[in-house]
Amino acid sequence: MQVVPIPLRNAYDHVNYLLACAETREAAAVDPYDVERVLGEAKARGLSVTAILNTHEHWDHAGKNAAMKAQTGAAVMAPRAAAGTLEGLDRLLVDGDAVAVGAESVTVRAVPGHTMASIAFLGEADGAPFLIAGDTLFGAGVGNCGYGGHAPTLYETITMLGGLPDATRVYPGHDYLKRNLGFTLSVEPGNAAALALAERMEGKPYFTTLGEERGINSFLRLGSPGIRENLPELAEGADERAVFLALRKRRDHW
Ligand SMILES: [Zn+2]
Repeated sequence: MQVVPIPLRNAYDHVNYLLACAETREAAAVDPYDVERVLGEAKARGLSVTAILNTHEHWDHAGKNAAMKAQTGAAVMAPRAAAGTLEGLDRLLVDGDAVAVGAESVTVRAVPGHTMASIAFLGEADGAPFLIAGDTLFGAGVGNCGYGGHAPTLYETITMLGGLPDATRVYPGHDYLKRNLGFTLSVEPGNAAALALAERMEGKPYFTTLGEERGINSFLRLGSPGIRENLPELAEGADERAVFLALRKRRDHW
């Protein structure tokens, strides 16, 4: 599988994706927001969009399904749990499903928390695993829970994703890395990896691996003494779940 990230550089810092089969030149468009831009990228690469994949039901991820389908005839696939919210779905996806794109495929993972219906897609490109993370896991951050989500559930999901191999490339639905590194440094000022990456990326889109996330993402560093020191609201002996929830609350108001 080939992953083509399309950073939109719009007000929401969306990143749209094409997942392409090199053999058949078929592609899946993930959460297309700028339909013309995604189709332009597909055309430039000789790809035909045959599937539209939604990670979750939010309008800025699933709201352009009909427009994309009208131009391509592609099948619309979304989480089964979002079926009551979204219209015009051709296939409902649940944890463990394989979604074929040409001669290749990605696997569906249920990742509730940002919304309860959220799913992610796991695949392999250039010999390394990748995760299409939607709004669940961002560069140096995690999704908010204020629009249909549940923070304790997100904690369980992020803990599960934290078990993926270091080499896993993380492809989030928005490019919030630069801002999130600022949050990391606000709760862990001594985080040298976050400081180094903030300087190195120079505002350009940059996609991390899970191994890098373990160094720069506070929500995957719940045992860090430095983070605990900067969360005075924590009770003594607070467990990692409590640290996660305190960080999520802190990030909401940051
Ligand atoms: Zn969302």
